[in-house]
Amino acid sequence: MSERVDVAVVGGGPAGALTAAAAAGGGRTVLLERAPNRPARCAGLIGVRGRELLSVPQEHILAEIRRLRVRGPDDVKLELVSSVPKGFVVDRAALDRLLVERARQAGAEVRLGVAAVGWEPGRLFTTAGRLDAPVVVGADGPCSDVAHWAGLGRPLEPLVGIQVALEEEGPADCAEVIFGGVIPQGSFAWSIPGAEGCRSVGLATDHGREAALILSRVLSEHFSGARVIRKVAGLIPVGPPRMTVGEGVVLVGDAAGQVKPWSGGGLYYGALCARLAGETAAAGPEHVHEYERRWRERLGEEIEFGLAARRLMKRLSEHEAMRVVRALGSTRLAAFLAREGDIDHPAGVLRDMLSCPALWGEGLSLVSALGGWSRVRQLLSGLRVPPDKA
Ligand SMILES: Cc1cc2nc3c(=O)[nH]c(=O)nc-3n(C[C@H](O)[C@H](O)[C@H](O)COP(=O)(O)OP(=O)(O)OC[C@H]3O[C@@H](n4cnc5c(N)ncnc54)[C@H](O)[C@@H]3O)c2cc1C
Repeated sequence: MSERVDVAVVGGGPAGALTAAAAAGGGRTVLLERAPNRPARCAGLIGVRGRELLSVPQEHILAEIRRLRVRGPDDVKLELVSSVPKGFVVDRAALDRLLVERARQAGAEVRLGVAAVGWEPGRLFTTAGRLDAPVVVGADGPCSDVAHWAGLGRPLEPLVGIQVALEEEGPADCAEVIFGGVIPQGSFAWSIPGAEGCRSVGLATDHGREAALILSRVLSEHFSGARVIRKVAGLIPVGPPRMTVGEGVVLVGDAAGQVKPWSGGGLYYGALCARLAGETAAAGPEHVHEYERRWRERLGEEIEFGLAARRLMKRLSEHEAMRVVRALGSTRLAAFLAREGDIDHPAGVLRDMLSCPALWGEGLSLVSALGGWSRVRQLLSGLRVPPDKA
């Protein structure tokens, strides 16, 4: 049995649902999701722009984040406090269901419990028959089958993300980033308020095989005694592959490595690119290459900046990181970051900071915390300059 459609979207996560909604106005669009009730591999943290873009209603907001705390060894701590919310924790499972429902309302045909099992140009094979589709969108997550079938590459640096829900309240408006100690250089942990009475505590690391062990050490060091309710793990695809389109194929979201390299957050970038993916997919196979250009114009430099920030993070020794955090706490830079910080667009914030003469003197204390200019030059060599704020 075969069916003719204009666009087939594989994967009903946020990127797939938003792509299907955007494509549905331009032609017959089918959205396939093989595991609609899968547990969310996500802490649900989004920024202000992310909330707007995803139109997340208040009832799906679990917490508003006004404080960001950075914690290191030896009680090194930095806290940035804002009078307005800088981020939101969303109920990720509810958000996914809502976005699929919106795709349906926009006209997409949603097929839950149906998996794509193979592809050749113009034809998608599924567990419920064949779809003759001139354009297939791979929104099937970090281990994308569609990318594999179409011979497209893999992300530059896949990290392992592992997270537990802890029965521990903690401050309801505070997101924490934890580094050093039992956490290897270049890896980081987080603690974020979750559903009532819980916190999500997770780790992103390139030490994939030891991820569970490292997280258990983080738990005993920083959250000892708190009960673990559930655990999830997944890949975080840092750095997009060289190409995200092929003959009649478009990749979006995690499948395209559209995540913030410095934090692993993928909801905002995926949502931004999904609209472009849906519009170009609906325009037909001859237009898919426009998607590559359009999404890289929008996010390419921001991702480059994130990759540079990640490289810098990996170069900093634990002691240097501790000294920078200490020094930041005693300068006006911390107040600037608390006021202007934007988790969706950190490159723009850095550019604003660099162009503010009142802060240049403060920057000098960071230079001396790092041991002087020659070390700073060494750390920054080969890293790129941030782009203009969008
Ligand atoms: C531990 C952890 C915590 C995270 N926390 C955050 C956070 O706080 N904030 C944030 O912004 N990001 C976070 N992320 C990243 C975020 O979860 C992802 O970027 C986001 O889910 C990507 O959305 P997506 O739609 O591209 O892919 P996914 O959400 O992975 O959806 C892909 C979908 O495709 C389906 N699928 C796969 N193959 C097939 C097939 N062959 N046929 C049919 N369906 C298929 C899957 O079942 C899945 O539902 C986190 C990631 C991890 C691992």
